[in-house]
Amino acid sequence: MPPLVTTYSFWNSYRNCPRACAWRYLEELAPLERSGNLRFGSLIHQCLERWHQRHDLAETLEMIEQACAATRHEPDVNAAWHLATAMMLGYAMRYPEEAFTIVALEQTFAGPLYNPETGRPSRTFSLAGKIDGLVEQDGELFLLEHKTASTIDSEYLEKLWMDFQLLLYAYAVEKHLGLRIAGVIYNILVKARLRQGQGETDAEFRERAAELAAKNKSGKTTAVRKLPETDADFQGRLRAKYTEPEMFHRETLYFSREQIAGVEQELWQLSQQFLYARRHGWLFRNTGYCFHYGAPCAYYPLCRANGAEHVIANLYEHRAPHEELRTTSDDAPVF
Ligand code: SF4
Repeated sequence: MPPLVTTYSFWNSYRNCPRACAWRYLEELAPLERSGNLRFGSLIHQCLERWHQRHDLAETLEMIEQACAATRHEPDVNAAWHLATAMMLGYAMRYPEEAFTIVALEQTFAGPLYNPETGRPSRTFSLAGKIDGLVEQDGELFLLEHKTASTIDSEYLEKLWMDFQLLLYAYAVEKHLGLRIAGVIYNILVKARLRQGQGETDAEFRERAAELAAKNKSGKTTAVRKLPETDADFQGRLRAKYTEPEMFHRETLYFSREQIAGVEQELWQLSQQFLYARRHGWLFRNTGYCFHYGAPCAYYPLCRANGAEHVIANLYEHRAPHEELRTTSDDAPVF
């Protein structure tokens, strides 16, 4: 039997809730609805890859046009088009030159998991992944990691020190590609919170006008109905927002040798726990995680219904895991 392919997402999901890991990686079930945040993140990653590859802004913006063309009439997709366009225009203005040189983009790695005590490769598990970029700066190699964030504050930056994903990638690139990684450059792009003005319906306008008139001694008002904001006006506001320095941030962190070595230990322990759980036919439900992000976990309907077939048929599909390992050219359309 070939080794079970694992990735950062696999182990992260196992650490958060073994049952979620089982739904996705053993049962190969995925929610039919992909979250808007995930789709936007994929689009921006594709744009950043293209931008760093060719430094051609027109070509990068054309990617956004093509990704959104078929469904731009949907409000969510139109909002994503506006945000991505303004974000990439602002990014190109902010970073016309780079302090680093690109060594590789969307670089994949794959190899076995290793037993840290014996140094022997596992016959049961392999480890694969894809890094956003590998760059050279001041004679050292760094991972380049793109992140889109709602805000950047001290808590957000503090959490980066404990980012298991990047430590795992550094470990894997060293182990499987034979390169020495000094640290990571986090390339953070903030998602502007601006929304396109929707204007007033006739009823809303009448109500507001009546309220204003009631406050006026003359019993009249000069209020005019608010019209929806045009695409051009909204795009103008967004572009102005992306000239603000706090909309982009680069944070460089260095890894210690101990941190990288610790990843091998952690992965091995996780793999042994996973084997034990699978052998006993029970990957437990970490119910404390069901609403971790203030919204139900993607598998909540399935867990609540104890894996009922009709819930699977209505809300989930069988989809091969490890979509993140695919190259941009075989990615399904983002929208
Ligand atoms: S709903 Fe809760 S128990 Fe079920 S997979 Fe998600 S986090 Fe785990």
